[in-house]
Amino acid sequence: MEETKAVRPLSVCVFCGASPGDDPVYLEIAYQVGEMLGRRRHRLVYGAGGTGVMGAVARGAAEHGAPITGVIPSFLREREMSVEAPAQEMVLTKDLFERKQRMIGMADGFIVLPGGFGTLDELLEVVSMRALGVCAQPIVLVNPGSFWNPFVDLLKHLVKRGFAPSGDSFVLADGPLDAVRHLEQRNA
Ligand code: AMP
Repeated sequence: MEETKAVRPLSVCVFCGASPGDDPVYLEIAYQVGEMLGRRRHRLVYGAGGTGVMGAVARGAAEHGAPITGVIPSFLREREMSVEAPAQEMVLTKDLFERKQRMIGMADGFIVLPGGFGTLDELLEVVSMRALGVCAQPIVLVNPGSFWNPFVDLLKHLVKRGFAPSGDSFVLADGPLDAVRHLEQRNA
């Protein structure tokens, strides 16, 4: 993998699942996203967990020197950090709503990896905010195993039926390097 230094260090917020999913490629790509952030000197901002896709991205980041900020509500700390999460700066929030706000507020851009309800909630939050023009940060979906294709189809359906504006609120990346480069270019 390429080791180019970024123009300036970014805070990259990664939304992804606390579960591993059914295909090892999700964890492999998540680890590589973390690795790429470390190699290119960016900070990982994420949901603080040590499990599933979240754990993989955090391990990739930690093992390649990325500073990490984990944002988690107090009530989830026991459940999602019981599996060892890498060393990180912790931000404790009172609930999930505040967590999302804090993560969005810290981010220079978003990378979204496979995940479940929580990930979808976070993704729709930033996509809908961008559509309203109240979120300027770029959003990149990384799409291992074509995971996000049904989501992309659903959004096309909303546009076709006249319920959502056309225009790209996010991009689909070919892979981890492509995703990070996109955020760098949009922050140049
Ligand atoms: P998931 O994608 O469901 O594995 O969840 C990813 C992260 O989002 C985990 O830390 C979940 O605890 C959290 N989460 C779950 N449901 C929600 C929700 N409705 N809003 C915000 N975060 C959530």
